[in-house]
Amino acid sequence: MIDYAHQEQWTNGFGNQQSPIHIQTSSTAAKTGPLPVTIQSAYRLNQEIDDQTTIRLTGQGQADIFSRPFSFQQVHFHAPAEHVIDGHQTPFEIHLVHQNEIGQLVVVALLVEIGTADQPCQRIIDNYAVGKTTATQLQIDQWLPQQPAGFHYLGSLTTPPLVEGVEWLVVTNPAVTIDSSQLDWFKQHFAPNNRQPQSLAGRKVESYQ
Ligand SMILES: [Zn+2]
Repeated sequence: MIDYAHQEQWTNGFGNQQSPIHIQTSSTAAKTGPLPVTIQSAYRLNQEIDDQTTIRLTGQGQADIFSRPFSFQQVHFHAPAEHVIDGHQTPFEIHLVHQNEIGQLVVVALLVEIGTADQPCQRIIDNYAVGKTTATQLQIDQWLPQQPAGFHYLGSLTTPPLVEGVEWLVVTNPAVTIDSSQLDWFKQHFAPNNRQPQSLAGRKVESYQ
């Protein structure tokens, strides 16, 4: 089991292009338009897995990301958020993991605030079984807004083995909020599972509106 309480002891055999990061908007390079991620085939979830430190759901879907085709593979959750923007850390972050035919990974991170309860999240909560993998049927592509705003940079997985070369799209205006009872449920079932922000080490971060 991943030990977040001693994350400074995690083995990083890679380098200094790690995730998550603390993004200072004033230091980013402004690009024109929204983040170029477009869903081509609905994101459907069919399996819910208790990963001990989070819930992971696997499924199918297709998206064009920076005009390249990617398959959606799995979604999982972090509380509190891993990415921090101008000192602000949202209480919840959703990671949509994608891969293309040559194995490149793109994670679309949704920074989730407290608001109205989300129905798919409630289904995930209601369907959860400790230590088990259960079948489910959910669609979640509606979580991505029509005009995603946020950031793009090159980083890593945020859990061991911390593999680098992972592309990140951090979405600050997702079309999903959770309510405080959903957040409380998650915090009661899982210890804080956010990796601390890592050094930017000279990397460029692009911002999109
Ligand atoms: Zn994650």
